[in-house]
Amino acid sequence: MRIYTAAMSINSKLYEGKAKIIYKTPDPEILLADFKDDATAFNAEKRGTIQGKGAINCRISGILFQYLELNGIKTHFIDSPAPHQMRVKAVKILPIEVVVRNIAAGSLCKQTGLSWGYVLPRPLVEFYYKSDQLGDPLLTYDRLILLELATAEQVDQIKHLALDINKFLQSFWLMCGITLVDFKLEFGLDAQQQLLLADEISPDTSRLWDINEDDPQHRVLDKDRFRQDLGNVESAYQEVLQRAAKIAIGNH
Ligand code: C5P
Repeated sequence: MRIYTAAMSINSKLYEGKAKIIYKTPDPEILLADFKDDATAFNAEKRGTIQGKGAINCRISGILFQYLELNGIKTHFIDSPAPHQMRVKAVKILPIEVVVRNIAAGSLCKQTGLSWGYVLPRPLVEFYYKSDQLGDPLLTYDRLILLELATAEQVDQIKHLALDINKFLQSFWLMCGITLVDFKLEFGLDAQQQLLLADEISPDTSRLWDINEDDPQHRVLDKDRFRQDLGNVESAYQEVLQRAAKIAIGNH
């Protein structure tokens, strides 16, 4: 059941995306993110619902943001007033999707011919233009600068941050018995023009493989179960949350 608060009246809705609704709050420096159960793939050509996904992704993202904060990464996370809600610092999201890959999968295989599961010699950081209309195309550095999506300094800072975040997340997921294949990050600027990690980090935005499963279908614990109709989507998301929560409790 959704928890409606005064802050969530129709007038306070700031933005509705595919996976979240963002509401204003009485404090202009704080926004409320409401995570939805809706699932989309292939630029919203495939649509569905993953029961309980909103609360699961909210919880996993909260755990990961707090873990990253402990490791010195600045994020937009404040707290989670309800299972599917997160209070976050207000930022202006840069229109860039930053993808970090450790193992070839998805569009990297499609666009380069690398085989699914090929372990990359070093992590790959990629930038995509966040534009549904254009189908989120891969950007070159020069295109990023040309379109003024970020400054050269910000691109450099984001790349370093993305690689640091990858190291922290790889070791977190390893403790959970999960291989971090790839993931997507978004960054935003606060009122002081400080770069903060924003959006979410969850099985919707990451590829997570069970370390103890060799079978290419059984090992998948992320949105590829929905994309590829592998079944057991909800239980995979639950499994990821249970493992993450156990590690998070152990770390405190
Ligand atoms: O589709 P692709 O292989 O480029 O996705 C790389 C990673 O980024 C995957 O973990 C995917 O879930 C994530 N991603 C995302 N949102 C997008 C595109 C990719 O979360 N719009």
